[in-house]
Amino acid sequence: MAGIFDKISGASKGVSDMSKNASDTNNLKKKIAYEQERILEVMQDIGKHYYADPKGDYTSLCADIDDRKRRINSMRNELQSIKGVRICTKCGTKFDEKYTFEFCGKCGSKLIVE
Ligand SMILES: [Zn+2]
Repeated sequence: MAGIFDKISGASKGVSDMSKNASDTNNLKKKIAYEQERILEVMQDIGKHYYADPKGDYTSLCADIDDRKRRINSMRNELQSIKGVRICTKCGTKFDEKYTFEFCGKCGSKLIVE
């Protein structure tokens, strides 16, 4: 619940929030890497089983991969949403994490993470 409250009251973000974002980002990246490894393992599993029994039923193993891919997708979306403060390379305007566009709303230049 604290996370939701943070998002609502997050207009003025402090240093602690920024480092919280950084650790959230790291956690998500780790989780994504883990799911990707698991997908490879399950794929190897499917390969072994298929070799032993080409007519076998691999629906549940495939569903497991689909599940993990969905999880990776939603975690990637989450990563996108906690980009943090970005700054315009041209006019220097700062945008917080609620601003989702890649380009500056004032001059149209590309934004970079501060
Ligand atoms: Zn600008």
